Amino acid sequence: MPIKVGMVSLGCSKNLVDSERMLAKLRKKGYQLVTEPGLADVAVVNTCGFIQSAKEEAIETIIELGKLKNDGTLKKIIITGCLTERYREEAAELFPEADAVVGIGNNKDIVDVLDHVLANERYVNFAPKLDAELTGDRIISTLPFFAYLKIAEGCSNCCTYCAIPMIRGKFRSVPMEDVLKEAQWLADNGVTEVVVIAQDSTRYGEDIYGESKLPELLKKIAEIDGIRWIRVLYCYPERITDELLDTIANEEKIVKYLDIPIQHCDGDILSRMNRWGDEKQLEALFAKIRERVPGITLRTTLITGFPGETEEQFNRLAEFVQRVRFDKLGCFAYSREEGTKAYDFENQIDEETAAHRADIIMEQQMLISAQNNEKLLGRELTAVVEGFDRFGECYFGRTEYDAPDIDGKVFFSSDKPLNMGDFVTIKITDTLDYDLIGEVIL
Ligand code: SF4
Repeated sequence: MPIKVGMVSLGCSKNLVDSERMLAKLRKKGYQLVTEPGLADVAVVNTCGFIQSAKEEAIETIIELGKLKNDGTLKKIIITGCLTERYREEAAELFPEADAVVGIGNNKDIVDVLDHVLANERYVNFAPKLDAELTGDRIISTLPFFAYLKIAEGCSNCCTYCAIPMIRGKFRSVPMEDVLKEAQWLADNGVTEVVVIAQDSTRYGEDIYGESKLPELLKKIAEIDGIRWIRVLYCYPERITDELLDTIANEEKIVKYLDIPIQHCDGDILSRMNRWGDEKQLEALFAKIRERVPGITLRTTLITGFPGETEEQFNRLAEFVQRVRFDKLGCFAYSREEGTKAYDFENQIDEETAAHRADIIMEQQMLISAQNNEKLLGRELTAVVEGFDRFGECYFGRTEYDAPDIDGKVFFSSDKPLNMGDFVTIKITDTLDYDLIGEVIL
């Protein structure tokens, strides 16, 4: 009987791509892959260690798997990913239930890691993080019609609150021919929506070609038959060029959607975050984007409670959100992370205040989102079918204005049977705060 391996992928979509590459190597070696770690002989946990809540989730997952191991349900546990990479020194001691504790540089050697633990050897190893593989086979673990396409690894922006550069290392682009090969493979395997990701997608190509090549890359992906929607996440505001906006506006396959995390609007806070811009520059940028790409959906991410954020600066952020009226927005309380510059900043804001401020922004955004949705009433939108909701007895899916996993959904009825991945035209008949309701008309 083949040994069964279960992968638990925590954290972001970039980590998920790493997990998918490990799964491909394991299957190639003959291991049987199972979706539930409770059904596995060996569990591999690909951790996230970005902020406190992610670390807690990883620790809880490892403790739960430890219980399965004590029961005898599970035989071995391997942990890798951002948490182990970040806490190299302590991880092996912190997780005695783990049979292997490795770093992101070892993901490419996951088969060897398994060999060690199956030989009943405790294995602790941290290969250089810059050796992490940028390409390779994958097993797509998202819904079969969409996949993430990771175009770079690491980050060189060095925002003062962020641990990513020390965890993942400097920004490294995947050579364009490799990205295109992978995009072609995705299309050949039934993927119709490609979601382009990196820590900073807009920086793509600077390190190997001396300039940003994101527009060129997107145009080339759009030439691939079978790909219908291309979506770009994680853009850095300073690097949104006219060329990029024109590419999005003119290329039919690129959805009119941009995710630009800005984190704050206040010039003083942004400067202490080591990030670009101030209120005026950001407002001008979003006005320009809306002018050059009419009808575009804008998503951003904000942090409240950054060290030294005064009540006045927070109020200005809230007013900024009211003025700019982002279509989608996520707001998080600042997480004080060891090893980052901001950790040692004066005037740390207490967690409760930071969380309360984030709640205020999200409550505001709920109203904005509801009002934005109301404007869609009666509109006809293209959506992709994601499944059938047995309780609601209706189909559900996403319009081009919603990214998988993070944005809202559309629930809809249809006279004809539909399959997952079908593209349909839906007339919007009702709206909720974040979701839409409609009926298929085509
Ligand atoms: S852009 Fe800033 S916040 Fe984003 S990963 Fe890089 S350093 Fe972290």
